[in-house]
Amino acid sequence: MDRSVTHARLIEAMSEMDIIDAHEHLGPEQDRLDIQVDALHLFGHYCRTDLICAGMSPDQYDGLFDTSIPIDKRWTTFRPFLPHIRHCGYARPAFEAARKFYGFDDVNDETYRPLSERMAAENTPGIYRRILRNECRIVTALTQCGRVVSEAGLLTPLLHMAYYAEVGSAEQIEQRAAERCATVERIDDYVALIRQGLQEWKADGVVGIKMMSTPAAEAVEDEKIATQAFARIRDGADPDPPDKSALYAYLMHETLDMCGELDLVVAVHMGMWGDFRTLDPQWMITVLPRHPETRFDLYHMGMPWVRVVGVIGKNNPNAWMNLCWTHIISPRMTVSALDEYIDLIPLNKIIGFGGDYSSRCVEKVYGHLLMARENIAAVLGKRIDRGAMGFDEAIEICRLWLYENPKQLYRLSV
Ligand SMILES: [Zn+2]
Repeated sequence: MDRSVTHARLIEAMSEMDIIDAHEHLGPEQDRLDIQVDALHLFGHYCRTDLICAGMSPDQYDGLFDTSIPIDKRWTTFRPFLPHIRHCGYARPAFEAARKFYGFDDVNDETYRPLSERMAAENTPGIYRRILRNECRIVTALTQCGRVVSEAGLLTPLLHMAYYAEVGSAEQIEQRAAERCATVERIDDYVALIRQGLQEWKADGVVGIKMMSTPAAEAVEDEKIATQAFARIRDGADPDPPDKSALYAYLMHETLDMCGELDLVVAVHMGMWGDFRTLDPQWMITVLPRHPETRFDLYHMGMPWVRVVGVIGKNNPNAWMNLCWTHIISPRMTVSALDEYIDLIPLNKIIGFGGDYSSRCVEKVYGHLLMARENIAAVLGKRIDRGAMGFDEAIEICRLWLYENPKQLYRLSV
C-alpha cells in the first residue's frame, strides 16, 4: 500500500541527503575493533528482547557471544529462534547489514560461516567512517557512551545528568569535587560545582545532557529539605535520607536552568524499557513549562504513549520530538504517530532519525536508516498522493527532519 511511485521517489531523494543521526550509543571505534565479531553479533543488542521473548534463556543468549564456544555450536542454539524473530522490527537491520556490507542476501545455515569470516575481515580501522559516513551519509551522530568522544567529528557527545544530580554518598561528592579541584561543604557549593562541570563538558564539545522521564522528575522541590538531605549525605550521617527525592528534584531543576543558560539541550528518555510505567512521558508535563529557556529533546515518541508525547510537543515551545529508536521498535506505530504529529506539531520540531545502537553493531545503523526513510516516505507519500502536499515541499520536510532540525536544536557547526 505504501509502495507507490511517490513513495519510491521520496526514498530515492532521501537516500541522497546528508543525515544528522540524532541519537546513538556508539563509543570510540576502538571499542568495536576490540570485539571478535561474527554473524551472531548481528542479532545482539535490541534483538535480545525478541529472542528472550521467543523463549531463549538469558544464559543461552549470553552464550551466543562467547567466542570461546565454536560458532557451529552457538549457531545451533540460535537457529530455532531465528524464524520467530525474523519479521520483528529489531531483526531487519541485521539482514540489511549482512546484505549491504558483507554481500549475503540471508543469514542461514549456508551463510553464517562465510558471513562470520567476512565480518571479522572487515572489522578494521575506518569501519565507522565506511559505514556511517560513506554508506549512511551521516555527517555526525549524537552519541551517549558515558565519555567524550569525537572520532574526528563523526561523533558528537551527550553526557548524563544523573552524574551530578543523583547524589548517592559522601564519597561520591568528594570524588566529584576532587575532579574539579573544588571544596564542597554545602549544597550551594555543590550547585556551583555542577555549573563548573557543565561548562567543562561544553568546552569539551558536549552538546547536551540526558535524563529519564521518571516520577522523580515530578518530586516536590523544596530548597530547605534538599539542603538538609544534602548535609546528611555530605556528613556521612545518613547516606539514604528519606527526603532524597526532594534533593534530586532540587538539583535537577537547578541543572535544567543551567542547561538553558549554557545552551545545552536536555534529551529525555521516555517509555519502553522494563516497567515502562516508571518512564511515562507524563512525568515531564510539569517540568517543561518550569524551564522555558531550556530546550528538551523528547525521545522515542514515548512509545507506547505516542499521543501523550504529541500533545506535550504541541503545548510546549521548548519541546522537540525525536524519532530515535522508534522506526525499529514499531514501523507501523511510527508511521501512524508521525502522520498525527504532522497535524499536531510544527514541522521544525520533529527530528526524524537516531539509530540508538552501540559500537558492537554499528552496521545496523544502516538498516535502521533505511526503515526510517521508508516510514517517512509512507507518511509524506500519502499526503502527496491525495493532493495535500507538493513533492518538493515533502523533500524539504525530509531535509528538515533528517538534517536541519537536529542541526538547529543542538547548534551543531557541521
Ligand atoms: Zn538510547
